[in-house]
Amino acid sequence: MHIAIVGAGALGRLLAYLLSRQPTHRISVFDPADGPEGRGAAGWTAAGMLTPTAELECADLDVFNHGLRSLELWSRIMPSLPGDVSFARDGSLLLAHRHDSGAAQRTVGLLKQKAPQPYRPVALLPAQLAELEPDIHGPSLAWMLPGEGVLNAVETMRGLYSAAADKVTWHWNHTITQVAPGLVGNGTQSWTFDHVFDARGLGQRPPGMSSSDNALSCQNVRGVRGEIFWLHAPGVVLNRPARLLHPRHRVYVVPRRNDIIVVGASEIESEDRSPVSLRSTVELLAAAHSMMPGLAEARLVHTETNLRPALVDNLPRIEHEPGLTRINGLFRHGWLIAPAIAEKALAQALPDNTLIQVSP
Ligand SMILES: Cc1cc2nc3c(=O)[nH]c(=O)nc-3n(C[C@H](O)[C@H](O)[C@H](O)COP(=O)(O)OP(=O)(O)OC[C@H]3O[C@@H](n4cnc5c(N)ncnc54)[C@H](O)[C@@H]3O)c2cc1C
Repeated sequence: MHIAIVGAGALGRLLAYLLSRQPTHRISVFDPADGPEGRGAAGWTAAGMLTPTAELECADLDVFNHGLRSLELWSRIMPSLPGDVSFARDGSLLLAHRHDSGAAQRTVGLLKQKAPQPYRPVALLPAQLAELEPDIHGPSLAWMLPGEGVLNAVETMRGLYSAAADKVTWHWNHTITQVAPGLVGNGTQSWTFDHVFDARGLGQRPPGMSSSDNALSCQNVRGVRGEIFWLHAPGVVLNRPARLLHPRHRVYVVPRRNDIIVVGASEIESEDRSPVSLRSTVELLAAAHSMMPGLAEARLVHTETNLRPALVDNLPRIEHEPGLTRINGLFRHGWLIAPAIAEKALAQALPDNTLIQVSP
């Protein structure tokens, strides 16, 4: 089959990678970026947390189950990608300062209620926390979320591309304005295919469609602004992602190679892509410093703003018809759920395939 994927973000690259493993398919990918390193996709900006239980704070059990399935799939996909692509499943932490214990206990109570065993938060004693994370000081309440994971989003974007690079026709510098069953067009040119996957994220919204429309559809997508900070912190140890349960901010720290600690992320109902604000910088970095005082001398080496593609109900959605599959609404957990969503979408569109039988 000749298959088009419109959008080379997190989901588009994963679909390209999975489809490229079937030698019988011809695959074309379209994206406005000027090449495989061109930024724009939210996929580049993400912290890469793979935390199904923690996401239950704002998501439903479907997202949780997609997250669990995706963790399994990532465990098989990651070793097959070229280059060093970081992926770990050492659990994640929830932390709280004693004076915030009311709000924290409410969140932990909600997660305990929503998550099935054995995925519920497990309370840690201060000595256990100190052993796991010697550079976390300040928060006196801690819980482990077993089995949760993290990937490096930048490395995964590159790895998925590289693995599929020579098996896919990449149409960079292509802003696609027309997507229909078996058809992709950019206003001056159009291409026909057996099947089209629309993975444009925020780009799926047709010009003129108001984001205040309440219809639940992949095209009625809005952007949710997120700001993220990279700190260079040589000598500061962080072994796994940790979230601070704070009454006002959602703050997390995520370790990356080369002494980088990513601090994220604001979540603002705005499609403003301008640089990070003073308020987000002060609030998020102060909160990060309050959990890891060793960050005091860290250097702020990079900041980034991007928009999470979200639908009216903040849940992911697959719309399928012959010749066309639209996927959208991966919101703040795209990396967490992308493999399970891709698996589902591919099974609907190409029922005879066994694409997800990925082995290293
Ligand atoms: C600050 C921040 C932190 C995040 N942290 C996490 C996290 O820790 N864990 C997690 O799981 N998720 C996280 N996310 C969410 C995750 O990044 C998104 O859910 C995911 O990237 C969505 O994937 P997507 O492929 O649908 O969209 P994108 O990754 O945005 O890709 C869409 C692609 O479509 C292309 N496109 C747009 N318009 C057109 C057009 N007209 N024609 C052709 N192509 C087009 C774009 O160029 C882009 O390449 C975070 C996001 C942000 C912003």
